[in-house]
Amino acid sequence: MTRARMPRPHEVAAARRDPRLLRALTERQFDDAWRTRGVCQSVDPETFFPAPSEPADSAVALCRTCDVQGPCLAWALEVGDCHGVWGATTPRERRAMLVAWRAQVQRDEDAVDGAGPPVRDQLLTLESVNTR
Ligand code: SF4
Repeated sequence: MTRARMPRPHEVAAARRDPRLLRALTERQFDDAWRTRGVCQSVDPETFFPAPSEPADSAVALCRTCDVQGPCLAWALEVGDCHGVWGATTPRERRAMLVAWRAQVQRDEDAVDGAGPPVRDQLLTLESVNTR
């Protein structure tokens, strides 16, 4: 078994502005009710767990039609080390997203009562600072 390498800074920077991550941050839910609304409920589960050497395109395409893509990706990032396609992302894509996710969630927890700007605004502000 090979160990996944840590994502590089430019990969994390790209993940930070990925619309899928921004959606997950704004649509995050604290219960599992979203699961019953997933498109994958009516598809063979194997579709969402391709072997590492197989393409994940069909699963990602199905996720892109799913109304609960945001909460689904948020869940996968909360869990951290999960296999398969979740919220239209592959495990490899989520490795870089996870670094950005944990940093943002920590900032949100530090802000406690939501006195700061919305999460999406904070991420976009951070990105504009980082690209100067
Ligand atoms: S985003 Fe994909 S994996 Fe998540 S619930 Fe929807 S279809 Fe299923």
